[in-house]
Amino acid sequence: MIADLHVHSRYSTDSEAEPEDVIRQAIDLGLPTICLTDHIDWDYPVEGLTFDFDIGDYFKEIDSLKATYGDRIRILKGVELGLQPQLGDRYQKLLKDWDFDFSIGSQHLVEGKDPYYPETFEGKEDSEVYRSYFENMLEDIRAFHDFDSMGHLDYVVRYGRHRARDYSYRDFANVIDEILKLLVRYNIALEINTCGIRKQLGFPNPHPDILKRYRELGGTLVTCGSDAHKPHYLGYAFDRAEEILKSCGFTHYCCFVRHEPVFVRLK
Ligand SMILES: [Zn+2]
Ligand SMILES: [Zn+2]
Repeated sequence: MIADLHVHSRYSTDSEAEPEDVIRQAIDLGLPTICLTDHIDWDYPVEGLTFDFDIGDYFKEIDSLKATYGDRIRILKGVELGLQPQLGDRYQKLLKDWDFDFSIGSQHLVEGKDPYYPETFEGKEDSEVYRSYFENMLEDIRAFHDFDSMGHLDYVVRYGRHRARDYSYRDFANVIDEILKLLVRYNIALEINTCGIRKQLGFPNPHPDILKRYRELGGTLVTCGSDAHKPHYLGYAFDRAEEILKSCGFTHYCCFVRHEPVFVRLK
């Protein structure tokens, strides 16, 4: 099985998973590498909800799990950073201050609202919200591009009123291409996130057409993540992810160790 580089534990506000249970499940599944990428979404706009954690505690716990399980699985230190244009300097400092192996940059907001909440779509066509989301993402990557992999690039589509009914890469090609060109220019990987498959979207995030386009534009770095918030969903649909990556022209996926890509051949 391929490595799962996007997984949550109780360091994330929206997960109760014990890190040790995550690691044990990963070993049971035969995953070669696992990275716990808990949420930091500073300035998250929903009142009463904060996505932040004590990185010192996280490092201590991961180090102790590495001491116990490190001979059975490679355990990496990671974080999922929620992108917003004003956070670039703070995130840059965070990545300088702490020795993470891997960082995911994720667009969780559109015009300052999380599309997870239906109000975000009120009075608008899905396509308008999708377009704003990609435009916001482009702006955020221009402001900050020191992360290693772009998480679930078309995440917004999971939450549209009609979800993927009116969605295609072609409709947003001009802005998505700009995003992909920046990823290639800054050596940022593109993540294939299988949560879209689990949530019955019919494809991973992003849609395979976007993975294909990234490859066409010269992108070679892809990471794979289940985005599991419960150990049960680790490695979800990874066989399918592997097939999709190959059909999009990739021969390798990668893991990141100390922010350097390590390529692994796809079977
Ligand atoms: Zn996310
Ligand atoms: Zn996530």
